[in-house]
Amino acid sequence: MGENMNFNYVPTTCPYCGCGCGLNLVVQEGKLVGVEPWKRHPVSEGKLCPKGLACDEFVHNEERLTVPLIKKDGKFVESTWDEALTLVASKFKATQETYGPNSVAFLSSARTTNEENYLMNKLARAGFHTNYLDHCARLCHGPTVSGLARSFGSGAMTNSIADIAQADCIFVIGSNTMEQHPLIGRSIIRAKEKGAKIIVADPRFSTTAKLADIYVPFKPGTDVALLNSMMYWIIEEGKEDKEFIAERTKGIDELKEVVKNYADVQEITTVPPELVKEVAMAYAEADATALIYSMGITQHTTGTDNVLSTSNIAMLTGNIGRPGTGVNPLRGQNNVQGACDMGALPVVYSGYQSVAVDAARQKMEEFWGVKDLPAVGGLTVTEMLGAAGDEIKNLYIVGENPMMSDPDLTHAAECLKKLDFLVVQDIFLTETGELADVVLPGACWAEKDGTFTSTERRVQRIRKAVEPPGEAKADWEITMALADKLGIPGFNYESAEQIFEEVRQVTPQYAGMTYARLEKPEALHWPCPTEEHPGTPILHTAKFSAPDGLGTFVGVEWKPPAEVTDKDYPFILTTGRILFHYHTGTMTRRSPTLNAEVPTGYVEISPEDAAELGIAKGDMVKVRTRRGEIETPANVTADIPKGILFVPFHFKEAAANMLTNSALDPAAKMPELKVCAAALERA
Ligand code: SF4
Repeated sequence: MGENMNFNYVPTTCPYCGCGCGLNLVVQEGKLVGVEPWKRHPVSEGKLCPKGLACDEFVHNEERLTVPLIKKDGKFVESTWDEALTLVASKFKATQETYGPNSVAFLSSARTTNEENYLMNKLARAGFHTNYLDHCARLCHGPTVSGLARSFGSGAMTNSIADIAQADCIFVIGSNTMEQHPLIGRSIIRAKEKGAKIIVADPRFSTTAKLADIYVPFKPGTDVALLNSMMYWIIEEGKEDKEFIAERTKGIDELKEVVKNYADVQEITTVPPELVKEVAMAYAEADATALIYSMGITQHTTGTDNVLSTSNIAMLTGNIGRPGTGVNPLRGQNNVQGACDMGALPVVYSGYQSVAVDAARQKMEEFWGVKDLPAVGGLTVTEMLGAAGDEIKNLYIVGENPMMSDPDLTHAAECLKKLDFLVVQDIFLTETGELADVVLPGACWAEKDGTFTSTERRVQRIRKAVEPPGEAKADWEITMALADKLGIPGFNYESAEQIFEEVRQVTPQYAGMTYARLEKPEALHWPCPTEEHPGTPILHTAKFSAPDGLGTFVGVEWKPPAEVTDKDYPFILTTGRILFHYHTGTMTRRSPTLNAEVPTGYVEISPEDAAELGIAKGDMVKVRTRRGEIETPANVTADIPKGILFVPFHFKEAAANMLTNSALDPAAKMPELKVCAAALERA
């Protein structure tokens, strides 16, 4: 911590996106008064995007939760911690005694620290003997975990952020990197300045697409067809990396059998074969091509297939395990990678150790001093909502807002209302918190110590700069207090560091990390198996993480989205994020600077569609789907093609997820948030 005049400068990590930028919180008399860039930080190098620059603004907002709340006669009343936790403990205990272990479920959080996610994993499994634990990675990168684990043996970004600047060609698909991961966008710009060819495939002519040397507009939901066709051309022209395929992979014949039928996909994708071929040649002929994707790839009923296609093309061209190459899924939230790493998932403990594997279960039973951990994986977020009121009676949600983030919000509300008892632990009273029986006030990232793991697997410190408001506590302290009320042993920690010391004993990828090692700005990339190990910025350099060391090609056929357009719903609706807001808007809409930039939601409409319907920019319009409708201003823009609508999902008064489809990817249980059929009319 540095001092200057009356200011303290506390180095920490940005609480917003997965880039993991470093910044200094400026503290004066116990309050945050600003943000200063952290010049030596290896990712941000003294730069921050608008969200990072304003990340202090929500911390002292007067709407912060300061005391526990209990709902009595339909209204929240303030309570003591003792009363609130006694109520939560007695309800959860009584429910399990009556209905069995899986009658209670837990949603952990991509916003909270690694230490806090590890403790939720321990509380659910060792304390409550249930695997009914998940978090919102399901709604952003569930298919990344399932798809890349199948192809490469592990589901994470293969290369580092800095490494992207080393690429000779960058292929971006399903990511508006410049707005959603701006500091990774900076690496793309650097690569371009050094002569790299930038290819962007996106239905919208996004800010990122405007940087492209080759822009590929294509129809939403046709990613597999486009990628299969690129692979067709690579094989047809003999541009595959035969040596890499022979030495490092298996399954090439299966892939060839599938992609041979994808010579011309214009009818499916709208992209002419000449353009597909041009892009395919650029991808295959560059010395090092990096593939970048985000939720435009994953948020489909074919999300896992889409991810498999990205790994197929990277392996086909030998673009794995070297600088400037790789498959790089950009994680949306500050610690979504870490929450996955820490086992806030229904099928794995920390370090992706499967609950179904006897040895892993026995290891955790011995370590936690418990018996009979459940061997069957739990339900996912989306499945939990469906089971609410039936199998699941009580739900404990930490730092998640499914009443904004989940698809088909009308249905989500109906599900949550069926619960016997709902606990929400958060920093503000969210839309989900409004439905809770008990609300517990958490400390935000600036008010506690811990670690976040960024999208590039870099584990970094966050540091306490100010005290939490009122009686709010760090999430790890709340978990400890609840365990104490329940009489669950093994939850006595004096610091976040003490929890981290436990994490590294049972999590092989983190075994070599200590808080002392993480003090350096460059921190460490996992896997870091020993205290002498330097960390691993690039995965799969000599062999893949699969037991046989080989990458696996999985040929996948294109399938259409779950809901396609018809005469009643003639538009394709797609959703996403924008530069100035973050997720469900809980923090950024309470930031005066960010909210002033974009104070309301909107729907993007093409000039052709607007003219046909007599809609002008700023007119209020109604967007309808089979699930609901919203009224919002029209943003008429040539950046979106005819027949497609785009709604950002941050705005509760025009919530995009009132409209979206809850149809699921069968492998990852990811809802199809990126494509559904919609109608549009003047309001
Ligand atoms: Fe924060 Fe992401 Fe912006 Fe960096 S790019 S400052 S991590 S929101």
